Amino acid sequence: MQMTSTDRTADVVIIGAGIAGTAAAYYLAKGGAKVIVCEKGVIAGEQSSRNWGFVRQQGRDPAEIPLMMEANKIWRGLERELNADLEWLAAGNMVTFANDEEAAGWEDWRQLAQGYGLSAKILSRSELDAMIPGNALACQGAILTESDGQAEPTKVTAALARAAEGRGVEFQTNCAVFEVETTAGAVSGVVTEHGVIRAPVVVCAAGAWSGRMLRGLGLKLPQMWIKGTVARTTPGPIISHTATWTGVAFRQRRDGSFNIAQRSADHDLTIDSILNLPSFLGSFASNRRAIKLHLNRLSLDLLRGSFSKAALAKELTTYRILDPAPNMKVVNETLQTLHRLLPETKDVTIERSWAGYIDMTPDMLPTIGAVDQPSGLVLATGFSGHGFGMGPIVGRLVAELIQKGEPSLDLSAFRFSRFHDGTNLTPHSVV
Ligand SMILES: Cc1cc2nc3c(=O)[nH]c(=O)nc-3n(C[C@H](O)[C@H](O)[C@H](O)COP(=O)(O)OP(=O)(O)OC[C@H]3O[C@@H](n4cnc5c(N)ncnc54)[C@H](O)[C@@H]3O)c2cc1C
Repeated sequence: MQMTSTDRTADVVIIGAGIAGTAAAYYLAKGGAKVIVCEKGVIAGEQSSRNWGFVRQQGRDPAEIPLMMEANKIWRGLERELNADLEWLAAGNMVTFANDEEAAGWEDWRQLAQGYGLSAKILSRSELDAMIPGNALACQGAILTESDGQAEPTKVTAALARAAEGRGVEFQTNCAVFEVETTAGAVSGVVTEHGVIRAPVVVCAAGAWSGRMLRGLGLKLPQMWIKGTVARTTPGPIISHTATWTGVAFRQRRDGSFNIAQRSADHDLTIDSILNLPSFLGSFASNRRAIKLHLNRLSLDLLRGSFSKAALAKELTTYRILDPAPNMKVVNETLQTLHRLLPETKDVTIERSWAGYIDMTPDMLPTIGAVDQPSGLVLATGFSGHGFGMGPIVGRLVAELIQKGEPSLDLSAFRFSRFHDGTNLTPHSVV
């Protein structure tokens, strides 16, 4: 790459202003780095503002438990650190179980978590009824991790970005990165729609787009987009602030409104569905009933970008914000289920609904860390539907890796090479 007088420079360029990229920018700036974040749309326009807002250690793959325990400590002080209201509520996370087999699965996980020093309790049906009086949940009992919590996704990344800007981070919104450039096997910068930025380190935190971005570097990141639908209700009587999964997932906010969702998800078929199918056969088979397949406009639009740089550039600027239509059948069914399971919610109605594309990996684990080639490229992506809670610790670990050469927690389970070195990619997370 020839340097021109208009080229800009940074210590680190971050691709994507979701929670992963923004938290990394915040911690890097705290450590004194000059950081530029390039975002093709707006800050937290995609997954990071569209999620349920569960911040849970519960049900995590063992590899993620230490990260989430450390994340939990950060979350507890985050409102103070960022001087912002994040609607943080440390009221626990709960999952109900229907029978002895499910109860045994959760007891196994509880013991495993205990081995890491994370405490969770199995609740009998009567203990659950004492927590949520008048419920009509169809279950035998539940697991409760009291130290878990919830926060409001529309506030968290925005607050991290404000704090990062306060420390000198530059956010370039409406600025897609088209390409990561390399010189002699090392990252040398990025080509954006507004020119070149030279930097020795680039963090790819491009969420659902990471697989497409990395293809240009000859790196194959298996990723599948799954569309999740979410709805928010009007405020109702306060029933429980414990974020709960029981056929419907719900979390009741301070104002009494609920975020509600269901397990069912949609997959809009694209060329990537076919290219990545071999890596995902296992998870498709086990979630066959929960995932509905669709052919639509997106399927056609995302056809060419898989094969040409110019077409990828067009996709990145056409889809500045992935804003898929929510599945209204799911929204209506979810509300009816909420009314049935929690009769006190009978008068709440849907205030708004939305959807988001989740970036799944075959083992449902993220990829966090540097790749072998090119040097200087760090990945923080593939959070598989549970990266909101992890965001702050991921940002801190990425900064440690770049600035100290060594993260304070073991990231080996999240290495990129696991997709290509014969590692067994069976998912172990319980939820
Ligand atoms: C419906 C739903 C429910 C969820 N519920 C939960 C939950 O309860 N708890 C939980 O922990 N997690 C949950 N998640 C997952 C969580 O939201 C994500 O794992 C997390 O937000 C991922 O953050 P990210 O920064 O990696 O990606 P994103 O937030 O998707 O950000 C990536 C950004 O990169 C930008 N970008 C991409 N390519 C480029 C490019 N070439 N140039 C410039 N910018 C680019 C995109 O525009 C985007 O803004 C849920 C997700 C969804 C969709």
